[in-house]
Amino acid sequence: MTENAVAPVLHIILPCYNEEEVLPNSVDRLLALLKEWIASQLVDGESRIVMVNDGSRDRTWEIIQSLWLSEPLCSGLTLSRNRGHQNAVLAGLFASAPFADCIVTIDADLQDDPRVIADMVHAFRNGAEIVYGVRSKRETDSRFKRGTARAFYRLMKSLGAETIEDHADFRLMSRRAVNALGEFKEVNLFLRGLIPMLGFKTEIVYYERAPRSAGESKYPLKKMLALAWNGITGLSTRPIRLITILGFSISLVSLGVMIYTLIRYATGQTVVGWTSTTISVWFIGGLILMALGIIGEYIGKIYLETKARPRYFIETILPPHASLDERRDWQTGKEQIPFPGFKPESE
Ligand code: UDP
Ligand code: MG
Repeated sequence: MTENAVAPVLHIILPCYNEEEVLPNSVDRLLALLKEWIASQLVDGESRIVMVNDGSRDRTWEIIQSLWLSEPLCSGLTLSRNRGHQNAVLAGLFASAPFADCIVTIDADLQDDPRVIADMVHAFRNGAEIVYGVRSKRETDSRFKRGTARAFYRLMKSLGAETIEDHADFRLMSRRAVNALGEFKEVNLFLRGLIPMLGFKTEIVYYERAPRSAGESKYPLKKMLALAWNGITGLSTRPIRLITILGFSISLVSLGVMIYTLIRYATGQTVVGWTSTTISVWFIGGLILMALGIIGEYIGKIYLETKARPRYFIETILPPHASLDERRDWQTGKEQIPFPGFKPESE
């Protein structure tokens, strides 16, 4: 198949939470690349870098606004509060879909090599609708993160959830794929598990991941565990089945224990028993509590899903295709720039 001759409009989404330390550098690097790709007609001149401010408490939003005011290729939006990485990515994808032919999401610290976006676009022009960025090795990670990540992918696989190993949220999606993703209404989001469910023609590009250049990880262990747990309970009901199996096995074992105890009783050897009784009472009690806990987790998820709460609210979108003059007027309130998918607040 030959490559599509039309250069697509590319939007690059950067989810940003307290990223004032890395954002200016990241955007400089991306801008240089994007200008190169526009010049070489890999992508269309209407392509944009779209920064999603996820309720940052530092100067991130000010930085985004000033970049938008001075650089036509930059745009952004801000969520009304911190909604987490997955929701920030989603907000960016849906806000960009009306404008872009293909959309890449990449972390704002550019740990994922932005140069391979060119490979992703080539794959898109050759017909792929979803292109996954996959890390060729994990050397820049701590041993701990490497070990836990490996264990997590194994667990996901054994639980029957389809995920792409060593792929984070660095990927390209066509507008069609993003619109398809919009049909998934769940609020417990684990994009890495949802996107493989979409189907379409997919492709993989490999890259090496660099260490974070500045600032701290916005994914402390607690958030990482929450994401992993969301991935498991959001995609798989197998833990519930495991409880059932466990319950059956334990019942069988207790049956054996019962027969054994009765024989001891019949033969008059009843002094033994205190230890084993205590242990089994505690053990079974623990299992029951665990089982209830896991079932409770799923019921909690069902409760949240039935409410179908909105996943995020966009507070402001910086119109991506306004000229620099229009942007200045817009900011001072002189101009309303109409654009699809976004209604300005009522006059
Ligand atoms: N992030 C976000 N909202 C959050 C936490 C993180 O938008 O509540 C963004 C963050 O700004 C970054 C990306 O998610 O662009 C990944 O975070 P980070 O690089 O800190 O994660 P790590 O690389 O350490 O896994
Ligand atoms: Mg990072």
